[in-house]
Formats: sequence, structure tokens, C-alpha cells
Amino acid sequence: MTPDLDSLVAALDGIADPLGGGGLLTSGRATPPRISGETVTVVLDATGLDEAQRKTLDQTVTSALEAAGATKVRLAMTAERSGPIIVAVASGKGGVGKSTLAANLAVALARSGAQVGLVDADIHGPSVPLLMGTGSARPTAVGEKLQPLTAHGVKVLSLGMIVEPGKAIAWRGPMAGRALEQLIEANWAPANLLIVDMPPGTGDVQLSLLQRHKPAGAVIVSTPQDLALIDARRAIDLFRSMHVPILGLVENMAGYACPHCGEVSDPFGSGGAEAAAIALDVPFLGRVPLDPQIRAASDEGTPPATGDGAGAEAYRAIAERLRVALNL
Ligand code: ADP
Repeated sequence: MTPDLDSLVAALDGIADPLGGGGLLTSGRATPPRISGETVTVVLDATGLDEAQRKTLDQTVTSALEAAGATKVRLAMTAERSGPIIVAVASGKGGVGKSTLAANLAVALARSGAQVGLVDADIHGPSVPLLMGTGSARPTAVGEKLQPLTAHGVKVLSLGMIVEPGKAIAWRGPMAGRALEQLIEANWAPANLLIVDMPPGTGDVQLSLLQRHKPAGAVIVSTPQDLALIDARRAIDLFRSMHVPILGLVENMAGYACPHCGEVSDPFGSGGAEAAAIALDVPFLGRVPLDPQIRAASDEGTPPATGDGAGAEAYRAIAERLRVALNL
């Protein structure tokens, strides 16, 4: 049976924040509960809590949610917050539009008033300089720290900015890992939210990135095809094994936006990814149509989320759901 959201919210906010400020929702310690099938997911911010407090909080929240009707509770405790909150954008395989989504989500979040940074960690094909139109500009360093560039209201760093242009990135794991480290530990202020365009797949580089810089959550991108969804499942499993909550699934290239009238039609049927999200037990964040204008604008370095139209609206709606999921 699906639990009742109001009861869960009341139960969660009925627990006092161990450091004061009211109930867990009021104080911002917990994200609002998300219900997916029979599973209730809550993200708790561990900032300022010692080990014993974290343990007690974990147990108290689990029992309270169960008493309020949740059959399965999934709690994620984010690491002590020092740098920006990290959101990983990932896919099981390349070519599904992961980088395009990461860039446009960052722009849509910035448009809605968030201070956002975008990290292009895609060692196989860094495309953020192209997508964000930063061209061949390179970041400077102050002391040990890289200074991100700014484009379309977003702070940006890409592996493509710190390796020689045109040079194939055939790095071995440790080298790629160190370079990624530099990007994530750059001087991101005032950005307090980092969207990380992850390398596709589920290899060692992804694993070490997740170990060192634990994201607050992950967004999984997939195309409607079954095969891509099987890959999405693999990506989801990787994050789950690292206790990173899945914020949701985005279906990209879903339906076709007519270049003449803008109307979105579904030549191959619709609802596949939504059904898959239910089967995978993850929230569904939305769909982005297959739209020739998205590709054209991306190729010109003007993220479609900066404009209006079907694409921009889709990115805006997904960004909005992401803010709710992250309690921002
Ligand atoms: P990935 O990062 O998964 O490898 P990209 O973001 O580089 O994929 O996208 C692959 C190609 O698909 C790019 O040419 C991009 O412009 C195009 N693309 C991505 N999303 C869409 C969309 N919704 N409609 C049309 N083209 C898209």
C-alpha cells in the first residue's frame, strides 16, 4: 500500500533537530519524504552531528516513518557539508544526451536563482566547453585552486579546459582521478550547488569520484529504448551501492518536437521511462523531447535552457523538481 505523504511529513517534522531549529523539515535537516511505490526516501544532512547523534537520528527517523505507514524506508545521510552540494548526472552509456542535460539543468537552475557550478568530468569526451560556448578559454589558477569560468550565469570547469585541445583523453584511472579532483576542489564560491557531468558507464573512475566526493544525489539520464534503460539500471545500481540517493530518472529524446509547429508527438509511443522508473523504484523527473533545435542550439554554445520553447520548458520543469528533491 502506498503510504500517505501528509502522515510521513508530520512524522518527520515531529522529530526535533538534534541541534535545534525545530522539527527535521523545519530546520532543513531532512528533505521532504519522497514516495516511490512502497519505498519512502529521505535525505538527511549530517552537518554538525557526531557519530552517535547520526546513528540515533537514523534509527529515530526510520521508526517514525515506519510507524507513519512506510513499508520500506531508504535513508541517505549526506556527508558533512563543507564544499558545495554535488549532484551527479549519469548514464549507463554514452550518447544519450547526458552532457546536454547536465549543462541545461545547470542553466535552468541558475535562471531560477540558484548559485550553480558545472563540472565536466566526462573523460571520454568533454563537451561542456562546446555546450556552454566557452570555446578555447582556459581557467586560471590562484595558488593551488582553479578559478572556474562563467558562462550563461553558471560557473564552469571542464577536463577539456585543462588538457591540450584535440588531444584524445586516453588517461589511465589515477591520472584522470587526480584531474577530476582538481576540478571539484576548485574555487567554486559563491556556487553552493555543483552539477557534475559524470563519465558514462560504471568503471573505476566513477567509483573513486563517488568515494571521494560523495554526491547528495544522482540524476540518471536514459533514452526511451529498452537497451539504454538496461544501462540506466546499471548506473542506478552503482549509486545505490555507494549509498547515493537517486534523485530521479530523466527520459531524453522522448517524443518528437515538430520543427514547424513545436508540437510534441510520440511516434514510438510514450510512458516507457515512467514505467521503467516505477520498475526501478526511482522517481521520474521528466522528459525532454527529441528536438532538432536542442541539438542546433547546443552546437552553437547557446544552451536551449537560456531561451524559451519546448526544450527550455522541459529543462525548467526538471530543474524545479530537482530543487524540491534537494530541498533547495
Ligand atoms: P552524452 O553526454 O550522453 O554522450 P550528449 O549530451 O553529448 O550525450 O548528446 C549527444 C548528441 O545528442 C548531441 O549531438 C546533442 O546535441 C544531441 N541531443 C541531446 N539531447 C537532445 C535532444 N533532446 N534533442 C535533440 N538532440 C539532442
